[in-house]
Amino acid sequence: MHLPQFYDAGALIAVLTTQPLGRALDYRAPEGGCLLGAFVEVPLGPRKVLGVVWGPGKGDYDLAKVRATYRVLDAPPMREELRCFLERAADYTLTPMPAMLRLATRAPGLGDPPSMRKVYRRGPKEPEKMTAARKKVLAALSEYGDLSFTLKELAEAAGVGTSVVKGLVAQGAVLEEDSPRDLPFPRLDPERPGKDLTPEQAVGAAQLADAARAEQYGTTLLRGVTGSGKTEVYLEAVAGALRAGRQALVLLPEIALTAEFLTRVEERFGAQPAEWHSGATMTERRRIWRMVAQGDAQLVIGARSSLFLPFRNLGLIVVDEEHDTSYKQEEGVLYNARDMAVLRASICGAHVVLASATPSLESWVNAEAGKYKKLELTSRFGPAVMPEMRSLDMRDESLPSNRWISGAMRRAVDARLAAGEQAMLFINRRGYAPITLCRACGHQIGCDHCDARMVEHRFLKRLVCHQCGESKPMPSICPSCDAEDRLAPVGPGVERLAEEAVELFPDARIATLSSDMYGSARALKAEIEAIAEGAADIIIGTQLVAKGHNFPKLTLVGVIDADLGLQGSDLRAAERTFQLMRQVAGRAGRAEKPGTALLQTYQPEHPVIRAILAGDEERFWAAEAREREAAGAPPYGRMAGIILSGSDVAQVFDAGNRLARQDESMRQIGAQVFGPAPAPIARVRGRHRVRLLVKAAKSAPVQAAIARWIAQVPLKGDLRIAVDIDPQSFY
Ligand code: ADP
Ligand code: ZN
Repeated sequence: MHLPQFYDAGALIAVLTTQPLGRALDYRAPEGGCLLGAFVEVPLGPRKVLGVVWGPGKGDYDLAKVRATYRVLDAPPMREELRCFLERAADYTLTPMPAMLRLATRAPGLGDPPSMRKVYRRGPKEPEKMTAARKKVLAALSEYGDLSFTLKELAEAAGVGTSVVKGLVAQGAVLEEDSPRDLPFPRLDPERPGKDLTPEQAVGAAQLADAARAEQYGTTLLRGVTGSGKTEVYLEAVAGALRAGRQALVLLPEIALTAEFLTRVEERFGAQPAEWHSGATMTERRRIWRMVAQGDAQLVIGARSSLFLPFRNLGLIVVDEEHDTSYKQEEGVLYNARDMAVLRASICGAHVVLASATPSLESWVNAEAGKYKKLELTSRFGPAVMPEMRSLDMRDESLPSNRWISGAMRRAVDARLAAGEQAMLFINRRGYAPITLCRACGHQIGCDHCDARMVEHRFLKRLVCHQCGESKPMPSICPSCDAEDRLAPVGPGVERLAEEAVELFPDARIATLSSDMYGSARALKAEIEAIAEGAADIIIGTQLVAKGHNFPKLTLVGVIDADLGLQGSDLRAAERTFQLMRQVAGRAGRAEKPGTALLQTYQPEHPVIRAILAGDEERFWAAEAREREAAGAPPYGRMAGIILSGSDVAQVFDAGNRLARQDESMRQIGAQVFGPAPAPIARVRGRHRVRLLVKAAKSAPVQAAIARWIAQVPLKGDLRIAVDIDPQSFY
């Protein structure tokens, strides 16, 4: 094994900080020296900032002025693999290194010495006088054995006040001890028996477990209809990694999905994994960050940002629902977690499992081309079969205005209610109504800061801008013509659909699931669990419900507007609609009873709608791939979006025109530049937005050329340039 580079005290070192400086700065190594990758604290102007020792100093700064590193922090040094990953990810996404480092240090106080807390356990003595309350405390302690309680936890477990515990401490019947706050995670046991797998599942599980054990990069696309047991199969890959003494990471697209997954991990491995997400407390984050670095967290499940954790020995990354658009971070550092997972794995010699019932075209093409291994589960587990899918031709319906549930849909729901089963009505639109129109003057209420309509959210009693999040109370007077009480909602959102359902099905218990109706991820999780257990007869939901949840009693899925996603000019409109519809439909009939999915549509002859109903996925993908290839579009060609924004509209356009004129570096690589054009949403948060689009051949060195190209535009005032490599959305 080769030893990591060490710098003696006083040696010139380069330290990368999270401050937006563009490059690593020179410092002197601290007293006692430091390792390459060490987390350090360095002076920057009058401040102390966090940094990582990135290599030898450049020596191009006045040596007399080079300052000394304050101290090395008490954290495992950043490993070469992670440093390399951050650099390559920065190059790929054209992100400055400090911003990359920020992603990798999102744990507070990560260099502080482990803090301690008081814990309580049974002491050697008996209390002088036994009371009922004291008895309860001692009983709680003997019941839970070695579990270390905090004061509050112990008092709660015993159902007494904290003073009772303190009294027992004074008498030596209970011991108070210091214990480190950041505890290792309980060990997961891969040797516990898993579920009996079907032959098809077993073959896949063995293949993945072998791949996860091999210390070698590879990617497998695990395809299988919803309910085929993909999770069961990739848990065996996790077991393989754990057996080899390596760590595993499972990325889930939606925090609400984790509850069910945690339970399954516990059933399989006897303990819960570490859970990394934006809702985690600072203490939890710190603990996970540390334990991951020490190798004392074997399995992490998390959102996309968990890719930047300092794993000690990462052997497996699973990206569940790999096609999900939420893997693309659309603000700050623009990266796609699926692609970055493959990058990190290729650097650290880990295996990647991309799991989906409806893979992205990118992954499908990579698998077809042999870059990824393919693994397929063809049938649902047990008696469950794929739902029957049918379209409901809305041209035949004469629904009264402001009604969206057709007669046929209504009868289908009634039948499920009568049978004691669950039905789901799906609409991919949050809020009450997408448009608020003045019936006197025709004005539509828009956002003051964005070129977007405000969406009424009746639940919140406000109008909300889905672009910037700005909201205002619902007015009673038209802001344009002052007419009173003439504002009317137009079109349905999930809340309005729920209102219609309440009228049509007065005796049913109706639950509405939309991300903005729950204060916390926890509340949402609880609601989803309750529904899964049968607390509702009808579930009304947005795309939140399309993802992975298991509702065993659900036998009907009704899509209110299957055409909604097909209207956009988005390059991926067909792919997205296909995935979403198949995904939603997959919610139905996951247990013994077969399910049905009904799609309300005005264009039942549309090729995408027909492909969805036919369920011929191979044919759909092949056709979609041919179209993209003919157009030179991704994944056959490269694209990048350049988004210029600023408060001065003339300046923003000037910069855009300048880029369009001075495009030699792009022409050199044979790339085409389109635009500048006002972005579809031309103003967000008061900033005007202009887009350029770059199209290039797949092998063209796009990033380097773009870096040279955009460097020509001086960023005056508040003008900003964002580069979106492989854009997923074009707003
Ligand atoms: P997917 O991830 O493909 O949607 P899951 O892994 O969630 O599928 O499996 C669907 C359901 O079937 C789950 O409730 C799961 O526990 C169950 N299941 C799948 N395979 C098995 C098996 N071999 N033995 C027992 N239950 C299984
Ligand atoms: Zn807005």
